[in-house]
Amino acid sequence: MDAAFFTAWLAECAAVVAAHRDRLTELDAAIGDADHGANLTRGFTAIQEAAVPARAPADDPTPTPAPTSGSPLPPGKVVSAAGSLLIRKVGGASGPLYGTALRSMGQALGDAPQVSPADLATALEAGVVAVERLGKAAVGDKTMIDALRPAAAALALAVQDGVKLEEALDRAAAAAEAGARATAPLRARKGRASYLGERSEGHEDPGAASAALLVRALHTVAARW
Ligand code: ADP
Ligand code: MG
Repeated sequence: MDAAFFTAWLAECAAVVAAHRDRLTELDAAIGDADHGANLTRGFTAIQEAAVPARAPADDPTPTPAPTSGSPLPPGKVVSAAGSLLIRKVGGASGPLYGTALRSMGQALGDAPQVSPADLATALEAGVVAVERLGKAAVGDKTMIDALRPAAAALALAVQDGVKLEEALDRAAAAAEAGARATAPLRARKGRASYLGERSEGHEDPGAASAALLVRALHTVAARW
């Protein structure tokens, strides 16, 4: 995977977050303040706007870069810069949390021009650990960690078993989706939803739902790479 892969991932994130904006907002309306869809759409749109000049000339109508159209930055820098933008542009808990995840992923990827599946697994693990540290949440607290932690574990295991990238990311995404669904019956112990106590039960966590979308976006890009 090169920088263009990660640029394509960020574009896919922007597309899926926008497509699922209303669902994320509804989930957040049930147990939060109904801004999660708007927060993430604003953040990932800002990343797209910042990335356009590096990716394609203004007169190029191609919505996503061709695999060969690489960015001048190494993958790690592309991902870190996106994380910094999320932190700057998104108010609410999810901006700093996802921003920190991307910055830590980028840091783990370093300056290498190419990323192996093992590098990606290591980077995802670093991103998830950073979210766990910042948010002090663990699996079962009904947060994005309920999707991210199983995704990182599934990717690491698949890569270790020599599973090819697309299948490995499919397993990671499936683990995230299962983790997100499993948040529904839980009582929130972190974030705004925790103020609701038992009234947070019975609704999927919006951040877990969005985390599953972002991991699935990685698989979507790998499938067409
Ligand atoms: P806010 O809660 O400030 O309105 P968002 O609505 O954008 O921010 O994001 C809410 C999501 O953030 C929650 O659904 C949850 O997944 C995640 N979240 C909140 N607090 C934490 C935390 N301490 N650790 C991990 N994730 C958290
Ligand atoms: Mg909210």
